[in-house]
Amino acid sequence: MRIGVLALQGDFALHEEALARLGVDSAEVRRPTELDAVDGLIIPGGESTTLLTLMKASEFVPALEKFHASGRPMFGTCAGLIVLAREVVNPEQFSLGFIDVTVERNAYGRQRESFESEGEATLDGSPRPLKMVFIRAPRIRRLGPAVSRLASHGGECVMARQGTVVVAAFHPELTEDPTVHRYFASLVKAER
Ligand code: GLN
Repeated sequence: MRIGVLALQGDFALHEEALARLGVDSAEVRRPTELDAVDGLIIPGGESTTLLTLMKASEFVPALEKFHASGRPMFGTCAGLIVLAREVVNPEQFSLGFIDVTVERNAYGRQRESFESEGEATLDGSPRPLKMVFIRAPRIRRLGPAVSRLASHGGECVMARQGTVVVAAFHPELTEDPTVHRYFASLVKAER
């Protein structure tokens, strides 16, 4: 099993390190054809507008549609969540629409641009505390009926899943806790 990390922009290297700590093989994906060699894909945080420009320039949109249709799992963090959402506001922008949520970009305001806090995740049946790092993070404002909540912060959903698509508003690659990457890796393994 090998998990791809979209390496067009943003903090993809830290996701590779997090996977390596779990003993999971990873590969940087810079061209659509490289998707053929991976069983799942992480879309890292960064700047969603820049990410979209780069994705469109290299024909990633149809390739990711095919990837998603093939049943291989995808995990988007922060800007990755924005790119995977059904609807984006503040401002409105194009997105892939693979998970039925509405996200508001940069929704924590100036004073709280970046912060670390504790939330709660329910990834393996029982809820447990999880350290979360938010960087100019989006907020999930609406969850469609087919979307389940995997983690909360201050009562709000900050991690969600619809089928093979997982999203988080925070950055699990910036903490030592392997829980979130382990969760995604086991999803990828189960779908192979
Ligand atoms: N603020 C960024 C955006 O709107 C996301 C920030 C991040 O990925 N850390 O695209």
